[in-house]
Amino acid sequence: MAEMADKSVVYLDNNATTMVAPEVVEAMLPFFTEKYGNPSSMHTFGGVVGEDVETARRQVATLLGAQPEEILFTSCGTESDSTAVLSALRSYPEKRHIITSKVEHPAIKSLVENLEVATGRRYRVSILPVDRDGMIDIAEYEQLLTDDTAIVSMMWANNETGNIYPVEKMAAMAKARGILFHTDAVQAVGKIAINLADLDIDYLSMSGHKLHAPKGIGILYVRKGTPFVPFMAGGHQEGGHRGGTENVASIIGLGKACELAGERMEEENTRVKAMRDRLEEGLLASIPKSMLNGSKENRLPNTTNISFEYIEGEAILLHMNLYNICASSGSACTSGSLEPSHVLRAMGVPLTAAHGSVRFSLSTYNTEEEIDYVLEKMPGIIATLRELSPFWEK
Ligand SMILES: *Cc1c(COP(=O)(O)O)cnc(C)c1O
Repeated sequence: MAEMADKSVVYLDNNATTMVAPEVVEAMLPFFTEKYGNPSSMHTFGGVVGEDVETARRQVATLLGAQPEEILFTSCGTESDSTAVLSALRSYPEKRHIITSKVEHPAIKSLVENLEVATGRRYRVSILPVDRDGMIDIAEYEQLLTDDTAIVSMMWANNETGNIYPVEKMAAMAKARGILFHTDAVQAVGKIAINLADLDIDYLSMSGHKLHAPKGIGILYVRKGTPFVPFMAGGHQEGGHRGGTENVASIIGLGKACELAGERMEEENTRVKAMRDRLEEGLLASIPKSMLNGSKENRLPNTTNISFEYIEGEAILLHMNLYNICASSGSACTSGSLEPSHVLRAMGVPLTAAHGSVRFSLSTYNTEEEIDYVLEKMPGIIATLRELSPFWEK
């Protein structure tokens, strides 16, 4: 039996990465030892592993409401994002316009910035702004769609705020104009129900380590009939769509994680959501000058992003760390930049608040006791730091 995580740590950083579920570890273990064959081999020893890979592909497809042939295994969410955007651009070489949003993950943000600059501005990128809640204006989006647009890449849910975007509607609008549509659904899969069969989405990225599978495994959904150009050329693996020997154990783990996510979706949207709400309401009520970042309504059930004004997110995290509480901050001083999170800045969150933002992201492994503990410790941490802050009016 796999060892459980250290329960002395209160882990509220599940949008950064998640614990591999013990059931997932269990499912993977034989693929390091007795079932180590190469799925491409002619012998039965390898061939049977190929059948297990296909089972995993079906498990992923079931969670997404997709067909197994539409699922391509990749090395991570970042690879899936690059594969989708570059595939669209290579499929329509005459089209030179890309649409994305201001709140994308660096996997898309850096990609399109590089595409624009590194190709000597061969591509023109339109970046959809967001309002104070971090939501987009669908009419503004519609005006950006042109005959020159090759692809729209819009995330399904934001990693920092948990905001959920209307990708179903946006994909339909792109389709009506003959434009390919990609969504980075890394944060959405497993947290909200997704049924791709009913939608006009052409490409969808997901990543294993955000839903209790290991790091270093992802998938790209490519809708049947959508043009596709491989990102990694090589062998004939994945139907010739991605070279490289399959990361078999992780693929098996991802399949199992998708099965578990389907079973736990209800709990995610009831018990986890209730804990998140209690944490959020408790913090906002007990700590002065604190505010929610993001949309209260259109949001993942597990995420809350709260700003504690006039103090630094990093200092808050260090103090939380002393109590073994793990979360993330929208403050980017660690990366050597004074600019806080591009997402909060795009929303127009004032600097005094953006610097003091903390993201708490829960999972089904969290408990009510952990929420009590965090609610008990946070007011003291914030008060202590404000005592030291030159900006705080004592
Ligand atoms: C984590 C994340 C990614 C990157 O996934 P990796 O598997 O770590 O490369 C992309 N998009 C979003 C929204 C994410 O949260």
